[in-house]
Amino acid sequence: MSLEDDSLEYHEADPPGKIEIATTKPTNTQRDLSLAYSPGVAGPCRAIDEDPGEAYQYTAKGNLVGVISNGSAVLGLGDIGAQASKPVMEGKGVLFKRFADIDVFDIELDLDDPESMIAATKAMEPTFGGINLEDIKAPECFQIEETLREEMSIPVFHDDQHGTAIISGAALLNAAEVAGKDVADLDVVFSGAGASAIASARFYVSLGVRKENITMCDSSGIITESRADEVNEFKREFASDVPEGDLADAMEGADVLVGLSIGGIVSPEMIRSMAADPIVFAMANPDPEIDYEAAKSAREDTVIMATGRSDYPNQVNNVLGFPFIFRGALDVRATEINEEMKVACAEALADLAKQDVPDAVVKAYGDQPLQFGSEYILPKPVDPRVLFEVAPAVAQAAISSGAARDEVELDEYRERLEA
Ligand code: NAP
Ligand code: MG
Repeated sequence: MSLEDDSLEYHEADPPGKIEIATTKPTNTQRDLSLAYSPGVAGPCRAIDEDPGEAYQYTAKGNLVGVISNGSAVLGLGDIGAQASKPVMEGKGVLFKRFADIDVFDIELDLDDPESMIAATKAMEPTFGGINLEDIKAPECFQIEETLREEMSIPVFHDDQHGTAIISGAALLNAAEVAGKDVADLDVVFSGAGASAIASARFYVSLGVRKENITMCDSSGIITESRADEVNEFKREFASDVPEGDLADAMEGADVLVGLSIGGIVSPEMIRSMAADPIVFAMANPDPEIDYEAAKSAREDTVIMATGRSDYPNQVNNVLGFPFIFRGALDVRATEINEEMKVACAEALADLAKQDVPDAVVKAYGDQPLQFGSEYILPKPVDPRVLFEVAPAVAQAAISSGAARDEVELDEYRERLEA
């Protein structure tokens, strides 16, 4: 049986799908029910009517995230629409629950235009403590997220953009350290100029990469000043003042290749043309821009390689980010997930990869040595310390940047998470 056949069976086992609602209060007696619902429920309704902030005290809002999609850019499947995207959105809910004990309503909206997506999502603000936008295609995703961030006072986070940016950003910090290079000196080439590439390029600038050291390529080659009029405003943001050329031209002498495009478009020759100890993040899924083995064996010096795949070292897996970012954000009732919180997440992940790994985690990965270096620049998702390190770092950043509505005492908070 193939993995896809197994997955069909997994999903259809009774009850169909992957999630259900559970109640958290007693419902045994008539009295329980009249507290849970009418007439007793009028009490919390009145309290919230007087002070909307009390919704966090009397309802599940504070631990509830809306995973919202229109199914327009689902995995590698493309625009399969809202209904067909539901298994993915339920799956995202499973990950939120498994890694950070956050509850999710998956919301699949049969809507195409950004204005309707914005209006529908905005109207759901009373329900949720945060919004995770998912699998919405570029460039519409930029406008949708940007507008919602401005108009909503709960966190709005498009994971396909920022999750990728944050995890690969953490990997970049450590890869630079392993290569003995300063982040501010890195020459970075992007293959791809879509949702994840644009967000990653912006985020790397927050991490210290110089914008003028970024060269971005789309399917037509380098995005140059001379092409600025023919590309969308998001690509234009990264137009370089260089002669026209293709990805191979851009990669000559570069320190870093960030692949967020399509599989198989980078040759060993192109890897050989890069600077010493090059950093190659080939993240196209399921097939990377260049295979792990082909990139590693292209040169004598160390190629610091990451991919989107779990069967090679250094998987850039978004599950290292979103559960813990939302955990930290929800626990201080944050109004947004801002740049400071994202940077704090990336730095906490990068720092964690430099610490000794618990035996249980090493065992879970078949006893391969997990020690900071070119084969281990990111923590593993099953490492329980990710929750204890990342969520408090994000909460702290929310507090110090003014995004928190509620303060937590950090040590106490960490202990609570570890309990
Ligand atoms: P997207 O918005 O559709 O963007 C894809 C980009 O790739 C477009 O800019 C496209 O160029 C460009 N492209 C296509 N062919 C190219 C070529 N021959 N040379 C250079 N660029 C080319 O997709 P996305 O959501 O950003 O995702 C891109 C890829 O990254 C996917 O394979 C996705 O699975 C992967 N990804 C991996 C991770 C992870 O590992 N954690 C996270 C996010 C995404 P045009 O603009 O000219 O069409
Ligand atoms: Mg996604």
